Amino acid sequence: MLKKTLIFNPKIANIPLPLPSFKPYVMANKRAFEIAFVGLKPGIHEFSYVVDDKFFAEKGEPDFANCHANIKLSLDKKSSFMLLKFEIGGKADVTCDRCGNPLAMDIWDEFNMLVKLVENPDEMNQQEEDPDVYYISRTESHVDIGNWIYEFVLLSFPLQKMCSEKEIGGPQCNKEVLEKLKLMEVKTKK
Ligand SMILES: [Zn+2]
Repeated sequence: MLKKTLIFNPKIANIPLPLPSFKPYVMANKRAFEIAFVGLKPGIHEFSYVVDDKFFAEKGEPDFANCHANIKLSLDKKSSFMLLKFEIGGKADVTCDRCGNPLAMDIWDEFNMLVKLVENPDEMNQQEEDPDVYYISRTESHVDIGNWIYEFVLLSFPLQKMCSEKEIGGPQCNKEVLEKLKLMEVKTKK
């Protein structure tokens, strides 16, 4: 079993301007999430990754901060397909949807991705309706998992981020803010 640890290093991003010096970072970053599966023996291989705010800021505008996510990936290589299992764990700071209080949140979830090796991947990807199936060319040697890591970590957050999970206006919500929101609601109704 092959074990690899790739750590996303935001320090590399602190290369001073001018802009052209930014390029090596982008390239190094891209490669950090590529798996050269062609060199792997059939069977299960494990990889682990760590991503933080920098990783998410590059791909979008995250509504969280101080994110630290660990991704355990097990890749089962077969002759015509690979089964990828992503196990996401970690934490991040978010704000309560109801009152805006800062919340430290644990994130956890698991996702599977079936990567099939085919002759016509573009056509197959267009036709495929299952979001957990992805096609790549038989002649391909690498698979880039960066976008999956991005999506899966975002999906690991609960849809509703609230101070108290059980009761509305629970003990931890910011009462002052809730009062103000109530007043605003009354005003708009009038
Ligand atoms: Zn709250």
